[in-house]
Amino acid sequence: MQNSQKIHLLENSLINKIAAGEVIENPASVVKELIENSLDAGSTEINIELKEGGKSYIKITDNGQGMTEQDAKLCFERHATSKISRPEDLFNISSLGFRGEALASIAAISNLKITTKTEDSLEGFLIEIESGKILKQAKIGCKTGTKIEVSNLFFNTPVRKKYLKDINTELNKILDLITRFSFRHQNISFNLTHNEKPLFNSPKTDNLLEKIITAYGKETSKQMLKIDYKNRIEVNGFISKPGLTRSDKKQQTIFINDRNITNDVITKATYEAYRTLLFHNRHPLLILKIKLDPEDIDVNVHPTKKTVKLKKEQEIYNEVVSAISQTLNKNNLIPEANIQESNAKPTQKYSFSQDKQTLLTVKETPKNEYNEIQKDEPISNSIGPIKILGQINKTFILAENNKGMLIIDQHAAQERILYEEFMQKYENKGIKKQKLLKPLILELSAAETDLVNKNLETFASLGFELEDYGSNSILIRSVPYIFERFNKNLFLDILSEINDIKKQAVEKTKEERIIRFACRKAIKAGLELTNLQIQELIEDLEKTETPYTCPHGRPTMLNITLAELERKFKRTG
Ligand code: ADP
Ligand code: MG
Repeated sequence: MQNSQKIHLLENSLINKIAAGEVIENPASVVKELIENSLDAGSTEINIELKEGGKSYIKITDNGQGMTEQDAKLCFERHATSKISRPEDLFNISSLGFRGEALASIAAISNLKITTKTEDSLEGFLIEIESGKILKQAKIGCKTGTKIEVSNLFFNTPVRKKYLKDINTELNKILDLITRFSFRHQNISFNLTHNEKPLFNSPKTDNLLEKIITAYGKETSKQMLKIDYKNRIEVNGFISKPGLTRSDKKQQTIFINDRNITNDVITKATYEAYRTLLFHNRHPLLILKIKLDPEDIDVNVHPTKKTVKLKKEQEIYNEVVSAISQTLNKNNLIPEANIQESNAKPTQKYSFSQDKQTLLTVKETPKNEYNEIQKDEPISNSIGPIKILGQINKTFILAENNKGMLIIDQHAAQERILYEEFMQKYENKGIKKQKLLKPLILELSAAETDLVNKNLETFASLGFELEDYGSNSILIRSVPYIFERFNKNLFLDILSEINDIKKQAVEKTKEERIIRFACRKAIKAGLELTNLQIQELIEDLEKTETPYTCPHGRPTMLNITLAELERKFKRTG
């Protein structure tokens, strides 16, 4: 019989190329693997130099323990690792990588140059590899530590190369990665240059806020609140004031027991704590370092995976909500107004609104409308003590407090008060219903009708009296008092929110979230206020739990500090 054997063993270089497909996706994954190796080697200084977003060149220099000549010759072989040697080591591993795949994979798809020296050896060693083949090796004089250079990533895998994104996108992924490393490893200095320009220099420090200043800048860091929470779990780190948000979650970093992870329960708890403080689709900045009992983490999750599963989810959820709410509550959340200058020439006094000279527009009002309502009497200690000075354009209330000038948006303030009133009534099961003079019949789709019927109780606690009217219609007898009249679009919005929330929220908070949503949608304040009512309004606002934003996340008040005023009037330098 003829030899028709089809199975053969793959060549090593091909195996490595295939493995590289799994481990190395883009320049950022090379940087990640190399930094992890530097960390494992005990480095305290890691320098990263890139060209073209890392696509053409990546160099990582560390001051770690280095490799001997023999190790340097072995390290890029597949399954070459110094980190485990016995099966039982697998259960005791504290280093970041241990499969011995990274250097082999990188060497298979680039030109790789390693220069390294241990403290004990007099000379260092250099080895250059391309497509896994050694091009050059030599003894060389160099410092203790390791320098790894990766040129022309994916040069021999053109399809992968083609799928790389533009320079900026690849660079941003690397910046993002190094930022997170810097938050995690505070005692290590990270330094990044791109096309020979310094981009990021994060020295070692005990103070996480300094790492945040390097990463996100001074102005941003001023808006960060420190978390220090210790109960069943520990939560440390920083969160942004509600006024500082982003359109995505890129500036959110969560560590559980020192591992940078993503976890839905923790993220949801965070948003629950911010609740009405945020605009829709806006995201706070977070650097959370959470310490959990290792027992609470699902051990079946792969050690290199970014998502972890938790046990006792509800309990951890509640703890994280408390940690963040407490931090938000105990900090002063009144945003400070920054009066921005424009190039407009200064004109006569009080004509700001016409030429938009400043961001704050102030309309001139006849003197007698600036009635002083209250003199020198403190109203409370959280916003004030304040003194009311008057009203602008029947929209803004002007007041003075110990910090400077306070401007209160009266409609936003009314919304906040109404909202909390409603929520409190809900909690005491006392939401007022309003009977419709004539019951309404609402036609819906089959799916919507089904959803309504499944949630009759939720609707009832909201103040809706509904009945199934057959053939996909619903009879409406009463609506929540706050709604004033029935509004079909609002009803459909609530329904779709129920649908969303039921899918994702942790059991206990579902109904509450629906109610909050409904109430926020319904509130539209717009009353005109007499001067005496202003006083009442501020007192009511003071009594709310969260006086500083309306339920949609807009600020209810702004503080223009004395320092800012003095600066504007050039009293200070
Ligand atoms: P792993 O990290 O999984 O062991 P790698 O392919 O990433 O596999 O690295 C292989 C080996 O090379 C490591 O186990 C380590 O001994 C050595 N090594 C790699 N990078 C460095 C470095 N920067 N400093 C010292 N040794 C290193
Ligand atoms: Mg490694």
